[in-house]
Amino acid sequence: MPSKAVGNDLFVGVDVGGTKVAAGIVDSRGKILAKTRAPMNCQGTEEEGFASVISAIESLFTQNTAARRQIHRIGICAPGPLDPRTGVIINPPNLPCWRDFPLADEVAKRYSAAVKVNNDANAAGLAEYLWGVGRGVRNVFYGTLGTGIGSGIILDGKIFHGRTGSAAEGGHVTIDLNGPVCNCGKKGCIEILASGTAIARRARERIAQSPQLGTQLLALAGGEVSAVRSEMVGKAAQAGDPLAKEILAQTSEYLAIWLGNIVDLLEPEMIILGGGAAEMLRPCFGEIQKRMKNWCVNSRYLEIPIVPAFYGENAGIAGGAALCISNSLL
Ligand SMILES: [Zn+2]
Repeated sequence: MPSKAVGNDLFVGVDVGGTKVAAGIVDSRGKILAKTRAPMNCQGTEEEGFASVISAIESLFTQNTAARRQIHRIGICAPGPLDPRTGVIINPPNLPCWRDFPLADEVAKRYSAAVKVNNDANAAGLAEYLWGVGRGVRNVFYGTLGTGIGSGIILDGKIFHGRTGSAAEGGHVTIDLNGPVCNCGKKGCIEILASGTAIARRARERIAQSPQLGTQLLALAGGEVSAVRSEMVGKAAQAGDPLAKEILAQTSEYLAIWLGNIVDLLEPEMIILGGGAAEMLRPCFGEIQKRMKNWCVNSRYLEIPIVPAFYGENAGIAGGAALCISNSLL
Protein backbone atom coordinates (compact mmCIF):
# COMPACT_ATOMS: atom_id res chain seq x y z
CA MET A 1 0.00 0.00 0.00
CA PRO A 2 1.43 3.41 -0.91
CA SER A 3 2.08 5.56 2.13
CA LYS A 4 0.97 8.87 0.69
CA ALA A 5 -2.23 9.90 -0.98
CA VAL A 6 -1.85 11.26 -4.46
CA GLY A 7 -4.06 13.39 -6.67
CA ASN A 8 -7.72 13.33 -5.93
CA ASP A 9 -8.04 10.11 -3.97
CA LEU A 10 -11.16 9.65 -1.91
CA PHE A 11 -11.34 7.95 1.47
CA VAL A 12 -14.03 6.77 3.80
CA GLY A 13 -13.67 7.99 7.37
CA VAL A 14 -15.74 6.17 9.97
CA ASP A 15 -16.35 7.31 13.53
CA VAL A 16 -17.62 4.58 15.85
CA GLY A 17 -19.14 5.80 19.10
CA GLY A 18 -21.22 4.28 21.86
CA THR A 19 -24.54 5.36 20.36
CA LYS A 20 -23.90 6.06 16.68
CA VAL A 21 -21.62 5.40 13.74
CA ALA A 22 -20.84 8.36 11.47
CA ALA A 23 -19.25 7.81 8.08
CA GLY A 24 -18.10 10.27 5.46
CA ILE A 25 -16.36 10.54 2.09
CA VAL A 26 -13.29 12.73 2.40
CA ASP A 27 -10.95 13.94 -0.34
CA SER A 28 -7.18 14.08 -0.11
CA ARG A 29 -7.34 17.71 1.04
CA GLY A 30 -9.48 16.81 4.02
CA LYS A 31 -12.74 18.13 2.61
CA ILE A 32 -15.80 16.16 3.70
CA LEU A 33 -17.84 15.58 0.56
CA ALA A 34 -20.69 13.53 2.02
CA LYS A 35 -21.63 12.07 5.36
CA THR A 36 -24.18 9.88 7.00
CA ARG A 37 -24.84 8.21 10.31
CA ALA A 38 -26.44 5.07 11.69
CA PRO A 39 -27.31 3.95 15.21
CA MET A 40 -24.64 1.83 16.94
CA ASN A 41 -25.90 -1.36 18.49
CA CYS A 42 -23.15 -1.82 21.06
CA GLN A 43 -25.05 -3.94 23.57
CA GLY A 44 -25.61 -6.94 21.30
CA THR A 45 -23.32 -9.55 19.76
CA GLU A 46 -20.10 -8.71 17.94
CA GLU A 47 -21.88 -9.34 14.63
CA GLU A 48 -24.62 -6.87 15.56
CA GLY A 49 -22.03 -4.24 16.44
CA PHE A 50 -20.27 -4.90 13.14
CA ALA A 51 -23.58 -4.68 11.25
CA SER A 52 -24.00 -1.12 12.60
CA VAL A 53 -20.66 -0.12 11.08
CA ILE A 54 -21.51 -1.74 7.73
CA SER A 55 -24.91 -0.08 7.76
CA ALA A 56 -23.30 3.39 8.03
CA ILE A 57 -20.81 2.65 5.21
CA GLU A 58 -23.51 1.11 3.01
CA SER A 59 -25.79 4.09 3.46
CA LEU A 60 -22.89 6.34 2.39
CA PHE A 61 -22.31 4.24 -0.75
CA THR A 62 -26.03 4.09 -1.53
CA GLN A 63 -26.17 7.88 -1.56
CA ASN A 64 -22.91 8.14 -3.52
CA THR A 65 -22.88 5.22 -5.92
CA ALA A 66 -19.74 6.25 -7.81
CA ALA A 67 -17.75 6.31 -4.59
CA ARG A 68 -18.11 2.57 -4.02
CA ARG A 69 -15.78 1.83 -6.96
CA GLN A 70 -13.40 4.72 -6.27
CA ILE A 71 -12.63 4.03 -2.64
CA HIS A 72 -9.90 1.62 -1.65
CA ARG A 73 -9.03 2.91 1.78
CA ILE A 74 -11.15 3.13 4.89
CA GLY A 75 -10.03 4.61 8.19
CA ILE A 76 -11.97 3.99 11.38
CA CYS A 77 -11.67 5.71 14.70
CA ALA A 78 -13.11 4.09 17.77
CA PRO A 79 -12.88 4.28 21.53
CA GLY A 80 -9.89 2.42 22.96
CA PRO A 81 -8.34 0.26 24.15
CA LEU A 82 -7.52 -0.98 20.68
CA ASP A 83 -4.41 -2.10 18.85
CA PRO A 84 -3.68 0.34 16.01
CA ARG A 85 -1.13 -2.04 14.46
CA THR A 86 -3.57 -4.94 14.02
CA GLY A 87 -6.87 -3.05 13.99
CA VAL A 88 -8.21 -5.23 16.81
CA ILE A 89 -10.67 -3.63 19.23
CA ILE A 90 -9.60 -4.94 22.63
CA ASN A 91 -12.14 -4.17 25.39
CA PRO A 92 -13.61 -0.65 25.33
CA PRO A 93 -15.96 -0.04 28.28
CA ASN A 94 -18.48 1.77 26.09
CA LEU A 95 -18.50 -0.83 23.29
CA PRO A 96 -19.35 -4.01 25.22
CA CYS A 97 -20.20 -5.82 21.94
CA TRP A 98 -16.53 -6.18 21.02
CA ARG A 99 -13.87 -8.09 22.91
CA ASP A 100 -10.73 -8.72 20.85
CA PHE A 101 -12.71 -8.05 17.71
CA PRO A 102 -10.64 -7.76 14.48
CA LEU A 103 -12.52 -4.74 13.11
CA ALA A 104 -9.94 -3.74 10.49
CA ASP A 105 -9.75 -7.27 9.01
CA GLU A 106 -13.53 -7.69 8.92
CA VAL A 107 -14.09 -4.37 7.14
CA ALA A 108 -11.15 -5.05 4.79
CA LYS A 109 -12.65 -8.41 3.76
CA ARG A 110 -16.03 -6.89 3.14
CA TYR A 111 -14.82 -4.05 0.89
CA SER A 112 -11.48 -5.34 -0.47
CA ALA A 113 -9.99 -2.17 0.97
CA ALA A 114 -6.99 -1.24 3.07
CA VAL A 115 -8.36 -0.46 6.52
CA LYS A 116 -6.80 1.31 9.48
CA VAL A 117 -8.20 1.62 12.97
CA ASN A 118 -7.07 4.02 15.65
CA ASN A 119 -8.17 5.79 18.79
CA ASP A 120 -10.51 8.72 18.07
CA ALA A 121 -8.35 11.45 19.64
CA ASN A 122 -5.18 10.21 17.91
CA ALA A 123 -7.02 10.23 14.58
CA ALA A 124 -8.59 13.66 15.13
CA GLY A 125 -5.18 15.05 16.09
CA LEU A 126 -3.72 13.65 12.88
CA ALA A 127 -6.51 15.26 10.83
CA GLU A 128 -5.75 18.64 12.42
CA TYR A 129 -2.07 18.21 11.55
CA LEU A 130 -2.77 17.17 7.95
CA TRP A 131 -5.67 19.45 7.08
CA GLY A 132 -6.78 21.57 10.01
CA VAL A 133 -5.34 24.31 12.21
CA GLY A 134 -2.14 22.32 12.78
CA ARG A 135 -1.22 22.11 9.08
CA GLY A 136 2.54 22.04 8.74
CA VAL A 137 3.08 22.06 12.53
CA ARG A 138 4.98 18.84 13.14
CA ASN A 139 4.63 18.61 16.93
CA VAL A 140 1.09 19.01 18.13
CA PHE A 141 -0.78 18.19 21.30
CA TYR A 142 -4.47 17.63 20.56
CA GLY A 143 -7.02 17.47 23.34
CA THR A 144 -10.69 16.69 22.93
CA LEU A 145 -12.96 18.01 25.66
CA GLY A 146 -16.43 16.53 25.50
CA THR A 147 -18.35 14.14 27.70
CA GLY A 148 -14.87 12.78 28.49
CA ILE A 149 -11.36 14.02 27.72
CA GLY A 150 -9.11 12.39 25.14
CA SER A 151 -5.78 13.33 23.66
CA GLY A 152 -3.52 12.68 20.72
CA ILE A 153 0.16 13.45 20.36
CA ILE A 154 1.56 14.16 16.91
CA LEU A 155 5.34 14.04 17.05
CA ASP A 156 7.33 14.84 13.95
CA GLY A 157 4.17 14.50 11.87
CA LYS A 158 3.20 11.07 13.18
CA ILE A 159 0.86 9.77 15.84
CA PHE A 160 2.88 8.85 18.92
CA HIS A 161 1.64 5.39 19.90
CA GLY A 162 3.93 4.27 22.67
CA ARG A 163 4.98 0.66 23.10
CA THR A 164 1.63 -1.05 22.46
CA GLY A 165 -0.51 1.75 21.07
CA SER A 166 -1.81 2.87 24.46
CA ALA A 167 0.07 6.17 24.74
CA ALA A 168 -1.59 9.59 24.89
CA GLU A 169 -4.25 8.74 27.48
CA GLY A 170 -4.02 12.38 28.46
CA GLY A 171 -7.54 12.48 29.89
CA HIS A 172 -6.43 10.20 32.69
CA VAL A 173 -3.51 12.21 33.93
CA THR A 174 -4.08 12.89 37.62
CA ILE A 175 -3.89 16.55 38.53
CA ASP A 176 -5.47 16.36 41.99
CA LEU A 177 -4.43 13.61 44.37
CA ASN A 178 -7.53 14.27 46.48
CA GLY A 179 -9.89 14.71 43.55
CA PRO A 180 -13.01 12.68 42.81
CA VAL A 181 -12.71 9.13 41.49
CA CYS A 182 -12.71 9.03 37.68
CA ASN A 183 -14.51 6.44 35.53
CA CYS A 184 -11.11 4.82 34.96
CA GLY A 185 -10.71 4.13 38.69
CA LYS A 186 -7.99 6.69 39.37
CA LYS A 187 -8.47 9.81 41.47
CA GLY A 188 -8.48 13.38 40.23
CA CYS A 189 -7.93 12.76 36.49
CA ILE A 190 -8.38 15.85 34.32
CA GLU A 191 -11.41 14.09 32.76
CA ILE A 192 -13.33 13.91 36.05
CA LEU A 193 -12.52 17.57 36.75
CA ALA A 194 -12.79 19.41 33.43
CA SER A 195 -14.85 17.40 30.89
CA GLY A 196 -18.24 18.74 29.84
CA THR A 197 -19.81 16.19 32.17
CA ALA A 198 -17.65 17.40 35.06
CA ILE A 199 -18.40 21.08 34.38
CA ALA A 200 -22.14 20.41 34.41
CA ARG A 201 -21.90 18.27 37.54
CA ARG A 202 -19.94 20.94 39.44
CA ALA A 203 -22.39 23.62 38.31
CA ARG A 204 -25.34 21.58 39.62
CA GLU A 205 -23.60 20.99 42.94
CA ARG A 206 -22.76 24.69 43.35
CA ILE A 207 -26.31 25.83 42.49
CA ALA A 208 -27.63 23.50 45.17
CA GLN A 209 -25.26 25.21 47.66
CA SER A 210 -25.61 28.83 46.51
CA PRO A 211 -28.73 29.28 44.36
CA GLN A 212 -28.55 33.09 44.68
CA LEU A 213 -25.30 33.12 42.66
CA GLY A 214 -26.55 31.03 39.76
CA THR A 215 -29.87 32.62 38.89
CA GLN A 216 -29.05 33.16 35.19
CA LEU A 217 -27.67 29.65 34.85
CA LEU A 218 -30.73 28.18 36.51
CA ALA A 219 -33.01 30.24 34.24
CA LEU A 220 -31.25 28.77 31.17
CA ALA A 221 -32.05 25.32 32.54
CA GLY A 222 -35.73 26.23 32.89
CA GLY A 223 -35.40 26.41 36.67
CA GLU A 224 -34.41 22.74 36.93
CA VAL A 225 -31.03 22.12 38.57
CA SER A 226 -30.91 18.64 37.07
CA ALA A 227 -31.28 20.14 33.56
CA VAL A 228 -28.06 22.20 33.78
CA ARG A 229 -25.68 21.31 30.91
CA SER A 230 -22.11 22.46 30.31
CA GLU A 231 -23.01 24.66 27.32
CA MET A 232 -25.42 26.59 29.59
CA VAL A 233 -22.51 27.34 31.94
CA GLY A 234 -20.71 29.05 29.03
CA LYS A 235 -23.78 31.09 28.08
CA ALA A 236 -24.52 32.11 31.66
CA ALA A 237 -20.89 33.13 32.23
CA GLN A 238 -21.03 35.39 29.17
CA ALA A 239 -24.17 36.97 30.58
CA GLY A 240 -22.28 37.67 33.82
CA ASP A 241 -23.66 34.94 36.08
CA PRO A 242 -21.23 34.81 39.07
CA LEU A 243 -21.59 31.10 39.68
CA ALA A 244 -21.02 30.19 36.03
CA LYS A 245 -17.96 32.47 35.97
CA GLU A 246 -16.62 30.77 39.09
CA ILE A 247 -17.06 27.32 37.48
CA LEU A 248 -15.24 28.42 34.33
CA ALA A 249 -12.40 30.00 36.32
CA GLN A 250 -11.94 26.77 38.25
CA THR A 251 -12.08 24.72 35.04
CA SER A 252 -9.49 27.05 33.48
CA GLU A 253 -7.20 26.44 36.43
CA TYR A 254 -7.55 22.65 36.08
CA LEU A 255 -6.81 22.86 32.36
CA ALA A 256 -3.84 25.15 33.03
CA ILE A 257 -2.36 22.57 35.42
CA TRP A 258 -2.90 19.84 32.84
CA LEU A 259 -1.50 21.77 29.89
CA GLY A 260 1.38 23.10 32.01
CA ASN A 261 2.41 19.49 32.67
CA ILE A 262 2.05 18.68 29.00
CA VAL A 263 4.20 21.64 27.95
CA ASP A 264 6.90 20.55 30.38
CA LEU A 265 6.73 16.99 29.09
CA LEU A 266 6.43 17.54 25.32
CA GLU A 267 6.91 21.23 24.57
CA PRO A 268 4.64 21.00 21.52
CA GLU A 269 4.57 23.75 18.92
CA MET A 270 0.80 24.04 19.20
CA ILE A 271 -1.99 22.91 21.51
CA ILE A 272 -5.27 22.23 19.71
CA LEU A 273 -8.48 21.78 21.69
CA GLY A 274 -11.56 20.21 20.07
CA GLY A 275 -14.89 18.80 21.21
CA GLY A 276 -18.09 20.42 22.44
CA ALA A 277 -16.78 21.55 25.82
CA ALA A 278 -13.68 23.09 24.16
CA GLU A 279 -16.00 25.09 21.92
CA MET A 280 -17.82 26.34 25.02
CA LEU A 281 -14.51 27.14 26.75
CA ARG A 282 -13.10 29.05 23.77
CA PRO A 283 -13.42 32.47 25.48
CA CYS A 284 -11.26 31.03 28.31
CA PHE A 285 -8.28 29.92 26.18
CA GLY A 286 -6.33 33.13 26.90
CA GLU A 287 -7.02 32.78 30.61
CA ILE A 288 -5.91 29.12 30.58
CA GLN A 289 -2.66 30.11 28.90
CA LYS A 290 -1.99 32.90 31.44
CA ARG A 291 -2.65 30.56 34.35
CA MET A 292 -0.06 28.11 32.98
CA LYS A 293 2.57 30.46 34.43
CA ASN A 294 2.08 28.73 37.79
CA TRP A 295 2.04 25.22 36.38
CA CYS A 296 5.01 24.84 34.07
CA VAL A 297 8.70 25.52 34.31
CA ASN A 298 8.99 26.32 30.61
CA SER A 299 9.60 30.08 30.47
CA ARG A 300 8.40 30.29 26.84
CA TYR A 301 4.96 28.74 27.31
CA LEU A 302 3.28 31.91 26.00
CA GLU A 303 4.81 31.19 22.59
CA ILE A 304 2.77 27.98 22.33
CA PRO A 305 -0.62 28.86 20.87
CA ILE A 306 -3.76 27.21 22.24
CA VAL A 307 -6.15 27.09 19.30
CA PRO A 308 -9.63 25.70 18.66
CA ALA A 309 -9.80 22.66 16.38
CA PHE A 310 -10.81 23.13 12.74
CA TYR A 311 -12.99 20.02 12.63
CA GLY A 312 -15.93 20.29 14.99
CA GLU A 313 -18.54 17.56 15.03
CA ASN A 314 -16.85 15.97 11.98
CA ALA A 315 -13.57 15.35 13.79
CA GLY A 316 -14.13 11.59 13.80
CA ILE A 317 -14.88 11.37 10.08
CA ALA A 318 -11.88 13.54 9.21
CA GLY A 319 -9.76 11.58 11.68
CA GLY A 320 -10.71 8.25 10.14
CA ALA A 321 -9.85 9.57 6.68
CA ALA A 322 -6.54 11.00 7.94
CA LEU A 323 -5.52 7.48 9.01
CA CYS A 324 -5.79 6.46 5.34
CA ILE A 325 -2.97 8.76 4.30
CA SER A 326 -0.88 8.32 7.38
CA ASN A 327 2.37 6.42 7.16
CA SER A 328 2.78 6.52 10.89
CA LEU A 329 2.30 2.81 11.52
CA LEU A 330 4.83 0.05 10.88
ZN1 LIG B 1 -9.38 8.75 34.68
